[in-house]
Amino acid sequence: MQYETVIGLEVHTELSTKSKIFCACSTRFGQTPNTQVCPVCSGMPGALPVLNRAVVEYAIRTGLAVNCNITRNNQFDRKNYFYPDLPKAYQISQLYFPICTDGTLAITSEDGGTKEVRIREIHMEEDAGKLIHDDWEDASFTDFNRCGVPLLEIVSQPDLRGVAETLDFLEKLKGILQFCGVSDCKMQEGSFRCDVNLSVRPMGSETYGTRTELKNMNSTRAIARMIEAETARQIALLEEGGHVTQETRRWDDDAGESYPMRGKEDAQDYKYFPEPDLPPLVISQEQIDAIQANMPELPEAKKLRYTRELGLPAYDTGIITSSVYLVRLFETTVEICGDAKESANWIMGEVLSRLKSTQTLPENMPFAPESLGKIIVMAQKNIINRGTAKKVFAQVFAEDTDPEAYVKQNNLAMLTDANAVREALIGVVEANQKSVNEFKNGKTQAFQFLVGQGMKSLRGQASAQEVTRVLRELLGSD
Ligand SMILES: [Zn+2]
Repeated sequence: MQYETVIGLEVHTELSTKSKIFCACSTRFGQTPNTQVCPVCSGMPGALPVLNRAVVEYAIRTGLAVNCNITRNNQFDRKNYFYPDLPKAYQISQLYFPICTDGTLAITSEDGGTKEVRIREIHMEEDAGKLIHDDWEDASFTDFNRCGVPLLEIVSQPDLRGVAETLDFLEKLKGILQFCGVSDCKMQEGSFRCDVNLSVRPMGSETYGTRTELKNMNSTRAIARMIEAETARQIALLEEGGHVTQETRRWDDDAGESYPMRGKEDAQDYKYFPEPDLPPLVISQEQIDAIQANMPELPEAKKLRYTRELGLPAYDTGIITSSVYLVRLFETTVEICGDAKESANWIMGEVLSRLKSTQTLPENMPFAPESLGKIIVMAQKNIINRGTAKKVFAQVFAEDTDPEAYVKQNNLAMLTDANAVREALIGVVEANQKSVNEFKNGKTQAFQFLVGQGMKSLRGQASAQEVTRVLRELLGSD
C-alpha cells in the first residue's frame, strides 16, 4: 500500500529582545550560568511580572508577515508543570487567546509548485532554564539564565507532506523571522527549534492517522533523518496489523532512532488558568497599523526587486535573499561601491566558496561587512588589480583585516609612477634577451612570455594592459 506522511510543526523561536519577557534581565546567550537572573525570572514568591513591550511588537510583526489576524483582546495563561529547569513550576503562555491566528506561509510543494501552508496560531510565552548533566560529577546542574527569555510558538496546521516541504517551511519561516528582525534563528544556540507532529495514512485517505510528537528538533539534518525513520516505523507498525500509539518521542540522532518519552499530554494535564499576575493585554488598531506601516521588506519582495531594479539573475537573487546575513553584506557592499552586479558576483563567487570551504554559516560571517565594498572600490579605482583583490579578500576572510590598511602595509597597490613600471620592465628585457630576439624574429608567443615575466616581476602592481603598452614601447614594435 502507498502511504502519505502528514506533518504539522510547532516552532519555538527565541526573540532577540535585549531583556526577558517579564523582567529586565539580559537575554544574552552564552554567559556564566545564573548571572542573568532576578526574583521574577527565578520564581521568588511575591515577585510580579511586567510584560516587555518589544515582545508584543515582535509578535505582531511576525503575525502580519505570515498573514495572520491579530487578536485585540489578549490574555496570558498559566501552564502548570514541575520540572527542575522551571523554578516557578509554571510557564506563562497563551492558550485561550493567542496573539496571532489563521495565517499562511507559501512554500515550494513536493511537485515543485507553490503551496500555502496554514498557520493555526502564534503565541507568546517564556522559555525555561537549562539542565546540564555532568557524568563526571554524577550530578545535574541548573542554569536559570534562559528562564524568561521570550519565545514565540508558531503552530502550523498538518499541511506538510514530507521532508522537502518541511525543510522548505522551516527555511522560509526562518527567513521571515530574521528579515523581520525578531530572531536570529540560530539553531545551534537553540533559538530556533521545533516539535514535529507526524502521522501516516493510506494515499488518498481523508482521515488523519494517529500522530506522534518528536520534541526539540534543532538541526535540519536531524529533522530530515527523523522524518524518514518515523515514517518507516509507523508504516511498519500498520503493515504488521498493529497501531500507532499517540505519544511524545525523543529522537536520538546518533542512533538514528526515536524512543518513547511519555504519553501525549492534553491541555487539561497542565491545569491551565488565566494568569492572575498580568492584566489583560489590549492591542489597538492604531498600534497594529503603525507596525504594518513599518514592516521591513521580506525575502520574496526583496528578490523580485533585486531582479527588477538591479537586473540581477533570478538564481543570484534567490541565493542572496536566502539569508538575511547575505542580504546585509550585499546591501552594504552596493552602498559602498555602487555596483550591484559586481557585488553580487563577489558574493556568489569568493564569499560563498570560502563560506563553503570553511563550513561557515552566513550568520557567522567572519569579516566586517564594509570590507568587501572597500576591496571592490580599490579594484574599480585601479589601485589593485583583480588577482590582488582576491588575495586581499582571502586575508580579510581569514583574519577580518582592514583591506585598505593591508594593501598599504604589504605594498600591494599598483605603481602609479610610470617610470617605476618602465624600470622594472627594462630589467625583464635585459634578463630575457633570448625571448626578445625570438620576438624580433617574428615569434609572437615570445611577447606573451615577456608580458608574463613583466607581470611576475611587478607582483600584480601593474595592469596587464600597462605592461603590454610599455613592453611594446621598449621593444619598438608599435
Ligand atoms: Zn529576571
